[in-house]
Amino acid sequence: MAPDTPVSAIPGIAAKAREEFNAGRTRDVEFRKQMLRDLYYLLYDNIDEICDAVKKDLGKGKLEAGFTEISGALEEIQVLIANVAKWTKPKTPPGVPFKYKILMPRTHLEPLGTVLVLTPWNYPVFLTVATVAAAIAAGDTVVVKMSELAPYSANVLASLASKYLDPNVFQFVLGGLEQAKALNAQKFDLITYTGNGAVAKSILRAAAENLTPVHLELGGKNPAIITETSDLAASARNVAWSKSMNSGQTCTSIDYVLVHESVVNQFVDLFKAAIDSYFPDGQLNTPEYAHIINERHFDRVLNLINDTKGEVKVGGKSNRDTLQIESTLVLNPSLDDPILGEEIFGSAVPVLTYKSLEEAVLTTLKIDDHPLGYYLFTGTTADFDFVQKRTRSGALVKNASVIQAAIPAVPFGGVGSSGDRPYHGLSSLEVFSYSRTTVKAPSKAYLLLDTLFHPVTPRKLTI
Ligand code: NAD
Repeated sequence: MAPDTPVSAIPGIAAKAREEFNAGRTRDVEFRKQMLRDLYYLLYDNIDEICDAVKKDLGKGKLEAGFTEISGALEEIQVLIANVAKWTKPKTPPGVPFKYKILMPRTHLEPLGTVLVLTPWNYPVFLTVATVAAAIAAGDTVVVKMSELAPYSANVLASLASKYLDPNVFQFVLGGLEQAKALNAQKFDLITYTGNGAVAKSILRAAAENLTPVHLELGGKNPAIITETSDLAASARNVAWSKSMNSGQTCTSIDYVLVHESVVNQFVDLFKAAIDSYFPDGQLNTPEYAHIINERHFDRVLNLINDTKGEVKVGGKSNRDTLQIESTLVLNPSLDDPILGEEIFGSAVPVLTYKSLEEAVLTTLKIDDHPLGYYLFTGTTADFDFVQKRTRSGALVKNASVIQAAIPAVPFGGVGSSGDRPYHGLSSLEVFSYSRTTVKAPSKAYLLLDTLFHPVTPRKLTI
């Protein structure tokens, strides 16, 4: 593996990003499209090598890694290549009164400048590439540091970047907290951080020193409400998928489940059947079943399961050597159990019961009123409308889970404690650019503007 970037090199890296931005090459949309194509082929040509690295970091098999790390990133890059020219065309702001049209006010999405990208370990490739693609499409120069908890993925992307991407526009930093803090202390035009709220606070504090704006993509406790009118087998398969894909270490994963009391026993049986059908040899005997990222998180997730007053109904076994934990359904934990307090980010599945949809919604508002994803499994549109009117979340999804992050071009992000602005598609350009206003007055416009100039006369004031 390549050595960490020396901390002493970091000010120079930030300065180089700024110099390159000021040189102006990234302003050219054709240049950006070429960089996006380079990024596309960096992934496309090296799928095996990248999936091997992800396997070493997280244990997930090639099919899962291909679907969750590579294919969505390729599609997102395609969307940006196809649309960046159209989306960056100047626009006339809506609502400009007719008499001002002669001044030709326009808005332009222009690059912010230099962007620092900090990404987490759970989808190391997808989250890094999707974010970098957004910054490149916007015309920024980019410095990236991936999580030290996924070192193989960070190394493979850094090494491929040196072969595929323009080293002036795109620079990679390898390392951990020391490098992250040194980067955070530099002046950038935007820092984008995907990760947890505690680190986000420290990044915001450090960024304030340079008045650097920060874009946050965070997590939270995503509820799934399963009503008695839903297709129960499909609901259970979704919960099982959401909690076993990447072992539940997914920001959009269903975190906890509320099931109508009349169907909870059926739901538990169907959840077990779904897990059995996904892993016929058992999860702990399936090498492609992703493991928990490290021992610290392995212990954390097990403690959440052990410290609950609920009853383990499905799963419960784990293997410390492989860091795998079965998808473990815990029925009726108490609301003050830690499993309902912090984001689980692992394969535990707390299940509560409810009597009315109103009661279920109020419970979700108590647990986390700004989740990243809110999932509702129901047979009626009235339920959906009710939940939409009473809750907030980055996305509200009916009869599916997790998938919203993987639909290319669909804005993806949180609200409040789960993030500030969505990205992907046009939203990516909006986050990584700024809206610049131009006014191009024709030389005779002074005849109109004259009414504003001194001296102010009563006649002028009536115009
Ligand atoms: P993390 O904080 O360990 O790592 C993210 C990056 O931040 C790394 O590069 C790390 O070195 C850097 N970093 C860590 N401490 C720092 C500091 N004090 N200053 C500057 N940089 C620092 O990632 P994590 O929090 O373990 O990731 C998991 C969390 O991320 C979960 O809460 C999950 O929900 C969330 N998440 C959100 C999304 C999303 O798109 N909204 C996607 C994935 C994960």
